[in-house]
Amino acid sequence: MSYKKSEEAFREAFSVIPGGVDSPVRAFSSVGGTPPFIDRGEGGYIIDIDGNRYIDFVQSWGPLIFGHCDKDIEVAVESAVKKGLSFGAPTLTETKLAKHIVNMFERIDKVRFVSSGTEAVMSAIRLARGYTKRDDFIKFTGCYHGHSDSLLVQAGSGMATFGSPSSPGVPADLTKHTLLAQYNNIESVKECFKNSKDIACVIIEPIAGNMGLVPADEEFLVELRELCNENGALLIFDEVMSGFRASLKGSQELTKVRADIITLGKVIGAGMPVGAFGASGEIMSHLSPEGAIYQAGTLSGNPIAMSAGLASLEKLLANPEIYITLEKRAKRLMEGFKEASEEVGVSMVTEVRGSMFGFFFSDKKVKNFEDALENNSELFGKFHGKMLEKGIYLACSAYETGFISTATTDEMIEEAIAMAKESLKEIL
Ligand SMILES: *Cc1c(COP(=O)(O)O)cnc(C)c1O
Repeated sequence: MSYKKSEEAFREAFSVIPGGVDSPVRAFSSVGGTPPFIDRGEGGYIIDIDGNRYIDFVQSWGPLIFGHCDKDIEVAVESAVKKGLSFGAPTLTETKLAKHIVNMFERIDKVRFVSSGTEAVMSAIRLARGYTKRDDFIKFTGCYHGHSDSLLVQAGSGMATFGSPSSPGVPADLTKHTLLAQYNNIESVKECFKNSKDIACVIIEPIAGNMGLVPADEEFLVELRELCNENGALLIFDEVMSGFRASLKGSQELTKVRADIITLGKVIGAGMPVGAFGASGEIMSHLSPEGAIYQAGTLSGNPIAMSAGLASLEKLLANPEIYITLEKRAKRLMEGFKEASEEVGVSMVTEVRGSMFGFFFSDKKVKNFEDALENNSELFGKFHGKMLEKGIYLACSAYETGFISTATTDEMIEEAIAMAKESLKEIL
């Protein structure tokens, strides 16, 4: 497989774009090698500018549940494009998409659309702070909620301590209200509530997908809900990734715990830039223009993005059984990867939630980010490179979730398993 054109394109991009990419993970820094520049997608495949074809297990990091170039979504987008790209005024599509989301999520009466997951979460935190009139919030190490200042606090700084920023350019003053707790460890959350009486909310990915795939335990979520109630804090479920991915209803089909605010993105835009946050009518009434909490966006609810999202959600609602097929395929893929690693005497732990899958080269069940860090990421890097050469496009980090689309066939799953077996044999 030649990457000649991509190598050249990467050098050229490098000269005008920092790192040659518009989002850091795409640069392949943690696995090595050159990122293939993508020319086009075809269902479950992507084709790079050198003409290499890959089975795509990234699917734009989640949004494309129907794979690339889905006809129904294409038609909806084309007809929207013909009417104009943006008006900055209300359109019917926004209300339709909002109705589907509201009908789907319990305790969510209203949603507002924004243009990214980052924006959705940033706005949700502001809403929680404005509503409770408190400043602090709790987040979990290893959970990613976009790159806004106060949320860019991650691991390493210990549990239940006030966070320090993980990026230069984020003033410590802006992260001093961010308290860090450990995923699936309720004691660490109690500690945070002991340290501060000013906690507006707890934000969590109920199915964490940004430290590999690490679902929260039911008991942990139940206790988290109770702690929020006892302390007058709101619970935010960040379902930007898991919404319409882990199941039709996101985490709701997998836990009985309900959040006060949810954030969505990825699938609800079907590949277009869309995010959303929603809550009860009472909480949402505090948002401008009904209330005083300000939030806005020139391109929010963009008609092209809304039409893509609407076509995607309507297709999902009409075919809820696809989640059974998706999960079956994701399970088979993980079973096959596990077989492949067993054949070469390497330990692997796997996880599947609907169309999301994750695996670690590790013998330790992963419950939180600290566990995840114990994986053999060097082996992952080698595995990633070999798989790429064999036409299998996996996320370029050991800490990302993989995705199956409805265009990912059983044959493609078997192909990926066969290539995993070959790859590991070549490495070890
Ligand atoms: C992707 C993601 C975000 C950020 O969304 P962007 O559209 O990349 O800004 C936030 N939260 C979670 C859980 C995500 O997976």
